[in-house]
Amino acid sequence: MKQIAPRIYVTPQMPTVLQDCLLTCLTTAQKRVEQFFGTQQAKPVIIAGHNIETIRYFGAPNARTGLTHLAITGAYIVLEPEGINSDVLAHELCHAELLERIGWCSRTFQLPAWFDEGLAMLVDYRFPHAEEEWHILTHNGTYAPDLQSLSTNREFFSNPHHTYLNYLTARHEVKQWYQERGQAGLLAFCRCMAAGNSFKYCYCQK
Ligand SMILES: [Zn+2]
Repeated sequence: MKQIAPRIYVTPQMPTVLQDCLLTCLTTAQKRVEQFFGTQQAKPVIIAGHNIETIRYFGAPNARTGLTHLAITGAYIVLEPEGINSDVLAHELCHAELLERIGWCSRTFQLPAWFDEGLAMLVDYRFPHAEEEWHILTHNGTYAPDLQSLSTNREFFSNPHHTYLNYLTARHEVKQWYQERGQAGLLAFCRCMAAGNSFKYCYCQK
């Protein structure tokens, strides 16, 4: 791997134009996450490859686009060329930021997958019609998946045919929550979780 900036690594074969694109998109994504949380505190390592093999080697055998490993030492974001854009980067940076703010234990043992994904969807602009789609696909919520059944990553991603609807449902729920509470509420939630409280308690406090 070749280091092109602090904590940013690419495969040596990556064309310069793609490397430049990564750095530019990262700046845009960082600004978005900064605006969302007020400041950016996480310092994730980013590993990007010129082909799909990188994400499969460093990420997961079936991975596509981008993913974030949440280690005790911090977050590692792994990207394939298709994931080198501001939306995927902002999405993954949001996972990293939440981990940094609530801590590894709280993230691993308390945080439901739907909240983590729903929050990341709010800084990921790939799906401009997400809300309308959710209303159509679920008949205004009647057939929406139960959030309780989307608590773990395994549940959230278990059925590829349902994953998109899971994302839309998570986004719908967290968007409403964020609209009510705003950034101050999000930061209060993070402090509450970092203090070791249960997700339910922190999510419901006003
Ligand atoms: Zn995600």
